[in-house]
Amino acid sequence: MRFNPTIESLPTYEAGKPIELVVRELGIREEEVIKLASNENPYGPPPKAIEAILANAHKAHLYPDDSMYELKEALAKRFALAPDQLIIGAGSDQILEFAARAILNPETPVLMTKVTFAMYAIYAAQQGAPIIRTSSYRHDFDELYDLVEKHDPAIVHICTPNNPTGDAIDRELLYSFLERVREPLVIVDGAYMEYAAYKDPAKRIDPKELVERFPNTLYLGTFSKAYGLGGMRVGYGIAQPLLIQTLAKVRPPFNVTTLSLAAAIGALEDRSFVQESIRKNFEEMEGYVAFARDKGIDFIESYTNFITYLLPPPYNAAQMAKTLLERGIILRDLTSYGLNALRITIGTREQNRRLLQVLEELWHG
Ligand SMILES: *Cc1c(COP(=O)(O)O)cnc(C)c1O
Repeated sequence: MRFNPTIESLPTYEAGKPIELVVRELGIREEEVIKLASNENPYGPPPKAIEAILANAHKAHLYPDDSMYELKEALAKRFALAPDQLIIGAGSDQILEFAARAILNPETPVLMTKVTFAMYAIYAAQQGAPIIRTSSYRHDFDELYDLVEKHDPAIVHICTPNNPTGDAIDRELLYSFLERVREPLVIVDGAYMEYAAYKDPAKRIDPKELVERFPNTLYLGTFSKAYGLGGMRVGYGIAQPLLIQTLAKVRPPFNVTTLSLAAAIGALEDRSFVQESIRKNFEEMEGYVAFARDKGIDFIESYTNFITYLLPPPYNAAQMAKTLLERGIILRDLTSYGLNALRITIGTREQNRRLLQVLEELWHG
């Protein structure tokens, strides 16, 4: 067999550990496992999404509507867009993949910040595209601009709020960067935008305003976080129609299932569920902020549904994650990002209480 050498040399991506694996490997009862590793909404799917899934189950033998008319209409209405400014993916991840495939090749660099969503580099590497990173793990627009000038990237990734750090950028700062960067595609990943917009309106980016003012941008949103549908795999991209048409050329037919499309429409209608999830998220985050202050742990102010603890020596994030795993608690260790840090998804009151209790035990002094 002959493989594409670009693909053959890539490492295999490891997603966060699923609950089932901890149950199997450590023999911990499923009810006792706490998974706060993948930034899922801990309050479950929105009730209206569950209703929509059940109401559409009898259509499972038919292919979905490949035009995704209803979900596009619902999103268009929500964001005051035209449906031809939208593309739907199996998670916003899939739209990142479309963009990489439509644009990148070994001659086109991709620019991103030092510590950001891992998939940007993975999709770039699949195309053989060189990856350029800033030296700072915060969004430093001066450095980003210098690197744009120097390397002429085909794609610039902006993740706000940023995963796995949790910080968000001010809209005005982003806009003044975009005033100067008119050529490359700038992907603005708003996977946690609903959280940031609630906490600080200055961080809120309106997709319509973004793509109409800056035709070289692609805004990404997802149903996996605030909308509570990580298991359904639905995300969306918003851009000017020409860019959407180009991305659509690499979209496989029927890429989002009937039940997922129905669930997403249900979730969009369930505003009170989403708002309550976000409100409780920030209320629950206070416990983690208080713990960090009490123990002298450095943390990054978070505009998301997770908080990142930068551990002081002698604490070791990999070791700490392993110890917690043995107690049935799954967190994200950020060692592979070059940070001695743990990313904690904010859970329910009960989950947070148990995790903080274990952390208290593990923290000496
Ligand atoms: C979770 C996440 C996504 C997308 O997740 P999907 O489940 O594929 O929609 C995209 N970007 C960031 C930064 C994320 O954290």
